[in-house]
Amino acid sequence: MPTANKKPIALLGGTFDPVHNGHLRVAWEAAEALDAEVRLMPAHEPPHRPAPIAGARARVRMLELALRGQSRLTLDTRELDRAGASYTVDTLRGLRAEIGNDRALILLVGADAFGGLPTWREWHALFDLAHIAMLTRPGRTEPWSSELDAEAAPRRADSPRELRDSPHGKVLSLPVTPLDISASAVRALLAAGREPRWLIPGALLADPSLLAAYRNAKV
Ligand code: ATP
Repeated sequence: MPTANKKPIALLGGTFDPVHNGHLRVAWEAAEALDAEVRLMPAHEPPHRPAPIAGARARVRMLELALRGQSRLTLDTRELDRAGASYTVDTLRGLRAEIGNDRALILLVGADAFGGLPTWREWHALFDLAHIAMLTRPGRTEPWSSELDAEAAPRRADSPRELRDSPHGKVLSLPVTPLDISASAVRALLAAGREPRWLIPGALLADPSLLAAYRNAKV
């Protein structure tokens, strides 16, 4: 099983509208804690929320700039390459078809998003495709439903090692440094004519055209 010896692949999906330092810090810490290759994966048409303000190309450009100068975090545009809505279950199946069934695959999910898991398409199937690492996020933890608890509780892992030792099926709570930054707050600052310096990578501020859509947006 040659792929079993490779580092886990961890996915951080999101709108990245725009990418901010909260995303980057959390992805970085997950890469270190899980000893994983972390892929930031922008969504094309997120099924659960309004369309992003920045187009796919602009969001990819911002991610490319944000990821410059390091190699632990990479960009995965597979959801943008597919037409229509991005369902995580389809994404994981596509990735599994590429990497095989032996390599550990980890879905990184913010604690707030984790609570909403039962609304995701074929959500039970997610656990047969990947592990889930729940990233703790300040002030945003919602109580879990009993159906989510019934699925997740027996799968609880106590350490990242457990995730590396099997390809899928575990749930790990991963504490990360709390950075209370959200893309909505960054968008609101830009729409109000303010500069979100230190909340987003400086490279995004260096090219005014990148953030123009947010500056002109009504929030
Ligand atoms: P919005 O404010 O528009 O809802 P967001 O900041 O939550 O956006 P997303 O692109 O939706 O950004 O987030 C992608 C993933 O990153 C989600 O799993 C989300 O929970 C997580 N995430 C976003 N911001 C943080 C943060 N500051 N700390 C930890 N996780 C975060």
